Amino acid sequence: MGSFNIAVIPGDGIGPEVTNGTCEVLQVIAQKYGHSFHFEELLAGGSAIDATGETLPASTLAACKKSDAVLLGAVGGPKWDSLPGKQRPEQALLGLRAGLGLYANLRPAVLHKELSQACPLKDKYVADGIDIMIVRELTGGIYFGERGRRDGGKSPDGQDMGQEAYDTESYSVLEIERIARVGFELAMGRKKKVFCIDKANILETSRLWREVVGRVSLEYPEVEVEYMYVDNASMQLVRRPSDFDVMITSNIFGDILSDEAGMITGSIGMLPSASLGAPGKPGMYEPVHGSAPDIAGLNKANPLATILSAAMMLRWTLGLRKEADAIENAVSKVLSEGYRTIDIAYSEECTVLGTREMTQKVILSIV
Ligand code: NAD
Repeated sequence: MGSFNIAVIPGDGIGPEVTNGTCEVLQVIAQKYGHSFHFEELLAGGSAIDATGETLPASTLAACKKSDAVLLGAVGGPKWDSLPGKQRPEQALLGLRAGLGLYANLRPAVLHKELSQACPLKDKYVADGIDIMIVRELTGGIYFGERGRRDGGKSPDGQDMGQEAYDTESYSVLEIERIARVGFELAMGRKKKVFCIDKANILETSRLWREVVGRVSLEYPEVEVEYMYVDNASMQLVRRPSDFDVMITSNIFGDILSDEAGMITGSIGMLPSASLGAPGKPGMYEPVHGSAPDIAGLNKANPLATILSAAMMLRWTLGLRKEADAIENAVSKVLSEGYRTIDIAYSEECTVLGTREMTQKVILSIV
């Protein structure tokens, strides 16, 4: 029996719809398994701008730091699109990642067999299923490096180059080591295979990445390591997706490859994610999708990505494995019974449900 404080940031658009239902799912888990979850609802993103003028109020970050885990819906929407970059709702995400030290982003890409029709690849490429765990470095690299504009000077033939822009990629041994360990630890509980994705034929950061991953791999002799250039990885993901298991990547490569891996497994409404920091610190769990303003308030959003994110939270931060399994099994059962939200309704035989009804089906399927 455990008692846990969960910071809930519903955010904007469909965020409140999918997080409310997910909290109901978690309450049912608490009742069935004898735990207590205390939810504290917090502001971030567009709704925080409207209420406080800030995208990430200091009180939100402070409450998240004190919590056991954070559940986030999504932030952003057209209402705030004209704000300058630093004042936009999406800045809240960077603030939360940096403020909570969330350096490891786990994005599983699983093809649920019931949703195989959602996969855009031919059957022969996915006959063995898809079960990939992308482990993306989240607080370093080019997204956090020095950037700016400057005078581009003259070209070799004397032409004025005009203004130039630059972004900087840098990685330290510590940053690579800690993300590599997350990847190897995960691999130990899976098929014991790690793919190190980089561009070591060109980039110095990638060469350091390979050196460090190679050193860390010595601590995990049972785990097989395959090094792959990112351009090749993006091809192999559509050619032989079943061969991949844990993929360790830098921030930018992981950002791109996880969207590709997500796409080949079907709808964005099915993809959960976890962002983890130092052991013992709160992790943040959120669906991969955004605030979907086009369907907000219409009871059309697929809540499963957020519900599956909550399962990851139980497994990775709260240490409640059988409870996580219970949620994942409930989702599989509902899908196998033919229930779908509109984004994953590919066959005429399925029964289309709204957000609330899908959530209730999952709740009723928890054993
Ligand atoms: P989006 O993911 O919100 O929507 C893309 C498409 O997928 C839309 O057609 C939408 O209806 C659909 N969709 C998304 N989630 C769905 C779900 N759960 N069920 C059914 N359909 C779903 O991406 P976007 O339109 O590029 O962005 C909308 C807003 O969300 C923007 O302001 C963007 O900045 C923000 N955003 C936030 C996050 C986040 O909070 N982590 C991530 C991505 C985008």
